[in-house]
Amino acid sequence: MSDTEVRQNMKEAIEIVESVHGFPDSMRSVQFTTFTGPADHLGEYDMLTRSIDINTTNPELRSTLVHEIGHAIDHGAFEGSGLASAMPRTPQMRAWREAVWNSEAVRALKGEPEDQYTTYLRSLPEIWAHSYAQWVAVRSGDEQLLTELRSRLSSSEADQYRQWEDQDFEPIAEALDHIFQSEGWLK
Ligand SMILES: [Zn+2]
Repeated sequence: MSDTEVRQNMKEAIEIVESVHGFPDSMRSVQFTTFTGPADHLGEYDMLTRSIDINTTNPELRSTLVHEIGHAIDHGAFEGSGLASAMPRTPQMRAWREAVWNSEAVRALKGEPEDQYTTYLRSLPEIWAHSYAQWVAVRSGDEQLLTELRSRLSSSEADQYRQWEDQDFEPIAEALDHIFQSEGWLK
């Protein structure tokens, strides 16, 4: 993908997110950068530089961007330091943790053989970013984002549990509504 196309996708992903919720001022310093690398590394959020780095060879740019924005929010949008998902401080965040732990997808994920990859997928910050991306997809109704995320449900092994079936996701979507509502960010 050309740099111009990547920039266009970034702009669109931010617009989709902003149709669902606003951001606190603390998020203004988050930067977007690109790199070109192996396809197994789609993107990342760097906590030190507060930048979202996106692989230009990534075919599913939109869902990766929204996922990484989820990491940036987890790290820098809420009161206090550290990752909010890993150390829930509010009743709303604790309700989100309960909702994901009680979901069929996360229960199934916990039943997968333990290795480096499933340990990573089972971490609360990863579950946060996956649930945030699905929530933005559902609440914005963006077709491309929904398609990219739904395609994961038919992946093999642990990857299929990175997203939730519609019904399984409902309590999680409501928990996310409450989090963003209580912060005054929901649109
Ligand atoms: Zn992630």
